[in-house]
Order: sequence, then C-alpha cells, then structure tokens
Amino acid sequence: MQRLADNVSYALGSFERADEKARTEEQKERLRRMFAALSATNEAIMRAKSRSELFDLVCDAAAVGGQFISATIRLVRPGEAFLDNVAASGPDRVRAREVLLSADATRPEGQTLTGVAIRTRRPCISNDYLSDFGPESHVYPVVRDSGSKSGAALPLLKNGEAIGALVFLSSEFGTFSPEMMALLQRLAENVSFALANFDRADEKARADEQKERLSRMFAALSATNEAIMRAKSRAELYQLVCEAAATGGKFTSTTIVLAQPGSDYLRMVAIAGPAAEGARQVTLSTSEAHPEGRGACGRAFRSGKACIINDYFADSETAAFHERARLDGTQSGASFPLIVSGRVVGVMIFVAIEKDTFTPEFAELLQRLADNLAFALESFDRADEKHKADERIEYLASHDSLTNLPNRETFNEMLRHAISAADRHRRQIAVLFIDLDRFKIINDSLGHDAGDMLLVAIAERLRGSLRASDVVARLGGDEFVVILEETTERHDVERIAGDLLVSLSQPLQLSGHECHTTASIGIAMYPADGSDVQTLTKNADMAMYLAKEDGKNGFRFFSNEVRAQSIERLTMESALRRALERDQFSLEYQPKIDMASGQISGVEALLRWTHPELGKVSPGQFIPLAEEVGLIVPIGRWVLKEACAQNMAWQHRGLKAVTMAVNLSPRQFGDPHLLDDIDQALAASGMPPSLLQLEVTESMVMRNVTRAVRVLDAIQNRGIRLAIDDFGTGYSSISLMKQFPIDTIKIDRSFVRDLPNDSEDVAIAQAIISMGKALGMTIVAEGVETSEQQEFLRAHACDEMQGFLFSRPLPPRDLAELLKTSPALVSPPLQPALDEAAISEAEPNLGRKRAVV
Ligand code: C2E
Ligand code: MG
Ligand code: MG
Repeated sequence: MQRLADNVSYALGSFERADEKARTEEQKERLRRMFAALSATNEAIMRAKSRSELFDLVCDAAAVGGQFISATIRLVRPGEAFLDNVAASGPDRVRAREVLLSADATRPEGQTLTGVAIRTRRPCISNDYLSDFGPESHVYPVVRDSGSKSGAALPLLKNGEAIGALVFLSSEFGTFSPEMMALLQRLAENVSFALANFDRADEKARADEQKERLSRMFAALSATNEAIMRAKSRAELYQLVCEAAATGGKFTSTTIVLAQPGSDYLRMVAIAGPAAEGARQVTLSTSEAHPEGRGACGRAFRSGKACIINDYFADSETAAFHERARLDGTQSGASFPLIVSGRVVGVMIFVAIEKDTFTPEFAELLQRLADNLAFALESFDRADEKHKADERIEYLASHDSLTNLPNRETFNEMLRHAISAADRHRRQIAVLFIDLDRFKIINDSLGHDAGDMLLVAIAERLRGSLRASDVVARLGGDEFVVILEETTERHDVERIAGDLLVSLSQPLQLSGHECHTTASIGIAMYPADGSDVQTLTKNADMAMYLAKEDGKNGFRFFSNEVRAQSIERLTMESALRRALERDQFSLEYQPKIDMASGQISGVEALLRWTHPELGKVSPGQFIPLAEEVGLIVPIGRWVLKEACAQNMAWQHRGLKAVTMAVNLSPRQFGDPHLLDDIDQALAASGMPPSLLQLEVTESMVMRNVTRAVRVLDAIQNRGIRLAIDDFGTGYSSISLMKQFPIDTIKIDRSFVRDLPNDSEDVAIAQAIISMGKALGMTIVAEGVETSEQQEFLRAHACDEMQGFLFSRPLPPRDLAELLKTSPALVSPPLQPALDEAAISEAEPNLGRKRAVV
C-alpha cells in the first residue's frame, strides 16, 4: 500500500510537472490514461498468482494505458542465445512476438533497445525509431512494417542483474518522455519486485518442501532402523529399507544394487517407489569403461563416496541415463556406496523429480541410511559366519568324519526320538546292528587307508540300500547301525536285512585287490526286545555276535536263546580271566610228519582249556575271546614257556629231538615284550632256538609290514624258524612272503579238505606248493584226514603233513609214547600204519592213539 501511495504521489507530481511544462493535450491524456491503467493494475500485479499471470497483466495494462502498438516482456534464459518472449499485448503483438531478440552484443539481434537495456541494466529509449535504427538494423523490418515511431526497453532487475526487459513500441514520435519513462520505470520496478516476491515464495515453498522431506526422511531413517532390526534375511532387509526410504524421501525410485563376482554389472536386489518399473529397466555398471558405469552409481561405487547429481541434464557423463530420466520425468539423483567390512559391496540409489533435491543436509541423512544398511549387512555376515561355524561344529560333533554318517551320540538321540514316536503311534521299531566280517583282516593286510575306503564304501552301500527315512549310523570301527521305523513286520525286516547282506557282499576293489566283504547283522525289535536305547542296542549287538558265530554273512533276531548264549559268553569271559591262575590250561601236541622219511619231524603245541563246570572249551571259542579281551598275551606267554619246557623234558628223557611249533596270536605279535617272552622261554627251558618254530598268520604280518619285518628278522636272527599258518585265507601272496624271513608255509585245512576232487582246491594247492618250493620254503599241509589227500600231496611233493590221518593233538604223555614207539608214522611210499577202518570211525584217531600208545 505504501508503494501504491508512493506511486500515486509520484505520478501526481509528474502530472503537475507535465502541466507546468505545457505538454500537448495528447501527451497529457496519454499519461493520464497510463497512470490510471497502471494504478488499476498495480494491486493486481502484487496479487498475481503466477509469473505468467503477472506478465500478462503488465503487458495488457501497459498496452492499453500507453496506447502502444505492442508491449512485450522478454526474459533471459541462461545458456540460451535468444530471449524468451513470455508475454505480449497490443494490436501488433503477433508481429512483436516473432522478432528474435538477444542480449548478446555480438549478435545483430542484440543491437536493439532491448539488448542494450539488458546489457546496461538501464532503460533504453528511441523517440525517433527510423532514424535511430536504419535499414541495416535487425529490427528495421518490424519497425517499418508496424509503423513504430518510437520505442523503449526497461530492464527487469533481480539482485542487480538484468533478467529480462519490458519492451514498448509506439506509433508516435517522442512518446517516451521523461514523465512516461518515470511511469514505466515504476512499472518495471514493480514487476521486478513482484518477481522477487515470486522467487521468495518459491524459495520458501522449496525450503518448506525440503524441511518436510527432511523430517519425513528422519522418520524413514528410523523406519529403516526398525526394518534392519526386523529383517530375517538379506532379501527382506533390502526390500524393507528400500520401501521405507522411497516413501520417506518421496523419491520416484530407490534402488539397491550389489556387485557380482566376476562381472562389471551390478545386480538389483531391491527397488521401490512409483517409478520402480522404469528404474528396473536401467542397467548399471561398476566400470567407467561402460556408459552405464559413468552415472552417479558407478562413480559412487568406484570412489566409495556419495555421488550427487542435482541436475541430470547438465551432466553430460550421465547421457546413458537421460532417456530414462526424460521418460520418468526425473532430474536429480544421488548414490551412496554400501561399505561392508571396508569394501564397497553395492550402492543405494535415490532418484527425484525436482532438480537440486539433494541438499547437503538431505544427503547427510541418506548417507546415514546407507551406512545403517551396510552395518546391518555386516552384522548379517558376522551372524552367517557364526551360524556357519556353529553348524560346522554341530555337524562335526554329531557325525563320523570318515563316512559322514551320524555318530554314536547322534544315533542314541535318534533312537530315543524313534522310541517316543513309536510309543505315540503304537508302532514297532527294528534296530539292526551290523558288523563286517573279517574287517580286521582287510585292515591288517591291506592297511588302514584301504580299511577306511572299505568303511566309506560300506556306508554308501548301506545308505543306498535304505530309504531316506531310515537312519544309518556308524558306532565306530566296523560297526554300523540302522533304525527301521516304518518297516516293522518281522518278514519285512528279514527281507531288508537280506537285501543289506546282498548289497554288502558285492565285490569291491581296494588297493588293487578284489575284496569280498560280508557282514553279520543282529536285530532287536522295540518294544519286544528292550524298552530303552541301551538295551535295544546291546541286544542287537548280542544277536549280531551270534550271527557271526553262526558262520557269518547272516542275520539273527534277538531272542531268549541269544540272551542265554550271550550270558554264556559273558560267563566264559569271566571264567577265562581266572583260568591261568587256576591252572586250567594245558597243551596238546600234534605231530607233523616228514614225507621223505615218514618220521615225526616236529609237533605243534595246541592250547586246551578245561573248566570245572564248562568242561572242555574249544579253542575256536575261547581263543578269539582271549584275543578280544587281551588275555591272549599272558596265556600265550605261558604256552611258549610250557611248550619249550615240555620239548626239553622229552629230550631229557632221551626222546628224539623234534621241532616245537607254537602259535602266536595277533595281539601277542603286536606286544612289545614278545621277544623278551621268547628269550625267557628259551632260557628257562634251555631249548635250542633252532627247535622252536613260531606260527604267524598273513594278516598279522601284513598289518604293519615294516614292524613285522623287524620283529620277524629279530626272531630269525635268534635261529628260530618261522611258519605262515592257515596260508591262503588272508590277503597276501607267496611273492609278498618273500620280504619276510619265512621258511615254512602251512596250507590251510580248507584247501586240503576237498582234495583231490575239487579242481579249484587242486589248483590252489598245486600253486602254493610249487611257488613255495621255488622260494625254497618248506610246505606243510594241515588237516590231512584221508589217504587220498595224502597221496595227492605226496605226489605234488608236499614236504610235511599234519592231520588226523596221522595223529590227533595228544597230551604230552601220549605224544611221548608216540615218539618212543613209532619210528615211522608213514613208511614211504607205503600206506599209513593204521587200518582204514579205524580212521573212518566216528573218532578215528582215538583208535590210532590207542594203537600207537
Ligand atoms: P591251527 O594253528 O591251524 O591248528 C590246527 C588246528 O587244526 C587245531 O585245532 C587242530 O586240532 C586242528 N586239526 C589238526 N588236524 C586236523 C584234521 O585232520 N582235521 C581237522 N578237522 N582238524 C585238524 P585246535 O586245536 O582246535 O586249534 C584251533 C586254532 O586255535 C589253531 O589253529 C590256532 O590257530 C589256535 N590255537 C591253538 N592253540 C593256540 C595257542 O597256544 N596260541 C594261539 N595263539 N593260538 C592257538
Ligand atoms: Mg597253528
Ligand atoms: Mg592252521
């Protein structure tokens, strides 16, 4: 209002001055009209809602009030050569609008009233147009065609800078008198003022908007923090953060991209915001080599710093994204690197409609958001690592490292679960206890690596033969266990056990050997055979043990009979522990006959146990037990001493000197005191070492070849002889025997039994004899029971024989008799000394014994 009053008083003053100077009536009239028109519009100018409304108002008022041919407003466009025509009024407005004008002094379009006014920031007037602007002038045609006689341009100023001009053309000479100019100058100032108001309002609106955005962003920041807490997975985290940011910042899109190993391109893991679809079309790269890597995102990724582009179109590097920006109507964007554990793993991208969205305060908030996300990712990594480590430890603790099967503890747990599930569903469970037959032999003869390979193969076979729902575990050693939860009918369990045996008995290549492994299976059923984990497992184990005793490669269900037999075994074990101190052991001696002379060349000491209640216990029963529980070492020590002493006792009675063969067991052979025990037995008895022959088995020496060679060499160096017992049943060959100081091979009874009828046994026996002879070894046949066997072996030049055909193992007194009375058990090449009828009796040797003693 003050401004209006000023205007009015100024105008009135001018009016009076005009009167004073006796202006023409017409000029006076024009001024009056101009003043009236401007007064009327002054207020309207101040109330204009927009710049264009302001411009139109001003032009209209000036054109009417000043009766100008045209009134136009031209504005400078930064970076553009020509002025923008934003409003035009008056009868000649169409033509006026078409004239190109410039502020540039070097252009002809700039050599005009307008150009000068803008450059000088002062009004520029021509009261005689045609003489001021000749035909060479750029505006001459317009001036001429429009009939303009005078013109004026007044700069519009903003902060002292000319941002445009008001341009008026008049059909009279001398229209732009000082009075008129004063009025127009006021008008121009009002327009400048109004424009400045618009700018201020804009600024305020922008500041409000920015403030609002900042506070929303603050809210978004805490929303993302919550999202970070809440997210269960990375994918969820990305999406939650993206959405919170897009909503909070009113972005057209928010995107999270991650670097991918081995690629220059970034992978989008989450997108949110109204222009998400558009943003999804964008390809982003980490490399400057690709245009897609030159935007804010690529720059942020490479530099590890925020990159803000507050005006896309002013940034030529981002050309690859201009098209997208045009389609989405976006003008600014900001990218923030996601730095996890000190390296950039991805970028968070914000895109906005308005230019200059990303003020420093705003960018700071967004940076915090990106940092929070990166922090959350880092925690995920740490959690992952811990989780992985935990899982690994858990797995290692619960599984067998060789076969990857659940271990004993895990099995116990699984069986416990199975039992409670069976209770709930009133079902039965079968527990199968599986033990490999002769695993020890393979392990001993082929080595632990081969043994391990075998166990792995067995584990695979078991797993492969069962359903995924069945549990297979390894309890240790060669013991495996299976839980069948759904197959509980006895005949089904039988079928499965049978299938398992078939699958396990398939031949297998191990260290170049074809191995035939079999297994024995014991089965216990829940609830019939036990109500808890321990009992079920123990009973299945017992049943397995008896399946082995039944002859291996079979299965057996737990039963009362199994229990009784097992108790027997337990009884036997405790009895065996006391047998030595209670003098329940004795030795029998079985002669070996030299084929060439027909004479007894030696005897083999065979251990006997007579228990007051159990009676005579078979060595086949108690020796493996003694071996298993370790009692064989002291027992074997006793055997050595006793056998040597007996041999010398015979000699002292004047009997013929024979060799004394003593069997060694695996445990004994592995015992560090073996050599001491031997030395003591020899020393105590005074028996020459050359009369002692130790019998070892293939598996014993193959277990640890280096050690075996050392022990056997030490034995041989004492002058003691060495024999391989039960030859052909282990995994070795005669050629392998070469590296051991062995002088005798005893062909196992199983190859002798079916001679001479079984062609395979014939071939084996022949091969063993000829190869052993080639190596200079003495060949002994065990278990010779018939004269046919004897004839065959004699014909194939077997050196010695041992068997019921000649004599059973005998107590010392009986053997002494034999040594005394029998110069030749076989009189080569004659038949055996006894009649065939006696031998074919139920106890043929008793007849012989009686006959010879
Ligand atoms: P081995 O060393 O192969 O002993 C030969 C076995 O064959 C003896 O059985 C013997 O009685 C039996 N035998 C001999 N001739 C015939 C025959 O013509 N027909 C049949 N059917 N059998 C025959 P035994 O005494 O029952 O001993 C069994 C195994 O026990 C022995 O086999 C040996 O491995 C082990 N053993 C015996 N005494 C000892 C010992 O003092 N220490 C160790 N570590 N093991 C021993
Ligand atoms: Mg033997
Ligand atoms: Mg033998």
